[in-house]
Amino acid sequence: MIDTLKKLWSPGTSGKPRGVRRRIALCNQLGLFGTVATVPYQLFYYSYDFSVYQGVFFANLMFMAGYLSVLSLNHRRRHNTASTVLLINACCQLGVVTWFIGTEAGVNLFYFTLASILAFLYERPRARIYAAIMALFGGLYVVTHFLFTADTAVAPLPSPWIDAMYVFSVAGALMLSGIVLYLFRQQIDHAEGELTLSNRYLETLSNTDPLTGLANRRALDVALEREWSRLARRQQALSVIMFDVDHFKTFNDRYGHYGGDRCLQRIARAAKDVISRSPDLLVRYGGEEFAIVLPDTDEAGARQLAQRLCATVEALNISNEALGAGARVTISVGVSSITHILPDAHEYGGAHLLKRADEALYQAKSSGRNQVVYRPYGHTGPVETGAEHLVSDETDSPTPLS
Ligand code: GH3
Ligand code: MG
Ligand code: MG
Repeated sequence: MIDTLKKLWSPGTSGKPRGVRRRIALCNQLGLFGTVATVPYQLFYYSYDFSVYQGVFFANLMFMAGYLSVLSLNHRRRHNTASTVLLINACCQLGVVTWFIGTEAGVNLFYFTLASILAFLYERPRARIYAAIMALFGGLYVVTHFLFTADTAVAPLPSPWIDAMYVFSVAGALMLSGIVLYLFRQQIDHAEGELTLSNRYLETLSNTDPLTGLANRRALDVALEREWSRLARRQQALSVIMFDVDHFKTFNDRYGHYGGDRCLQRIARAAKDVISRSPDLLVRYGGEEFAIVLPDTDEAGARQLAQRLCATVEALNISNEALGAGARVTISVGVSSITHILPDAHEYGGAHLLKRADEALYQAKSSGRNQVVYRPYGHTGPVETGAEHLVSDETDSPTPLS
């Protein structure tokens, strides 16, 4: 049933964007409403005393044809003309019918309905034109109200028909504006809901690295800022780990970009498994570099995790034969921690903690790779020595990337 009705007001809507479709459908709906709403009046004129009311009856037939032409105009894609024809036709009908039967029938109340739905008929109506049309509707209502009284009516209606028609007009005018506004309210709610969903999706997308599915650098910046404020409030430790795949360029050259991508995905998955606590955030910092933010974790905890990370990646046994037979993919790790806010710490914030971890990573690289180096937040001197080398299990032979 609803589908059949929808078909009735669909002329001209196909292939249009949703907003335009809504506008055209409304125009068609009003055209149909104008036609249908005139029918009861016509039946009355015809059956009550056709000789008296034939003038208004034939005028109404013309207006009904005018309403139906709106659907045809929309079908021919002349949407603005259709809206204008609809408004002019309705304005004329209300004026002419009121002139015939007098203002007491309340037909001119429909001017208010037209005014309330005007804004939905045109695409972004200009404020001045909009105001002018509203003023015109107001003027037409006042003119019809004062000029076309019961005394001046060409074909006045007897009581109680005039009262019944007034009730019918009031109900119709209110119902039409109410329904249109209610439907638009629903559409706005629906559009808002969709917008919220797509915003959420875009936000997730903008914070996610497409290759590994991990959070990206943007998410890291936000997390660092958030955790820094928490550190300032609660004075709980905060650590950052940065790690980078060793000799990854050589790996890429040997196994191709696809092989390199698979390797990064496996390392990301393995690192995810190493991180056990939910507040920890693992991100792909860029290329073959990753970072981990560890809230409420001190130096000892972060070092331990870094060691586990190194061992886990090595245990993946991804062979990198370009470096020699039996060589496998490893990572170098830099760690930095802060336990409480230092006097000058505010100046630098979380970004500085990341920088320290990056310096430590750089040191791990220059000290021979596949190791963990720690650098405290406040440390400004040379990077600490005594990098923690990992002892690999020589009996475990590497496997090619599967
Ligand atoms: P080091 O041990 O000093 O880190 O040496 P490296 O070769 O790993 O470092 P370098 O910065 O010279 O090379 C990084 C390589 O990582 C170069 C680049 O092509 C590769 N790379 C960066 N992003 C991606 C990626 O998304 N996929 C693949 N397959 N390779 C990437
Ligand atoms: Mg590298
Ligand atoms: Mg790198």
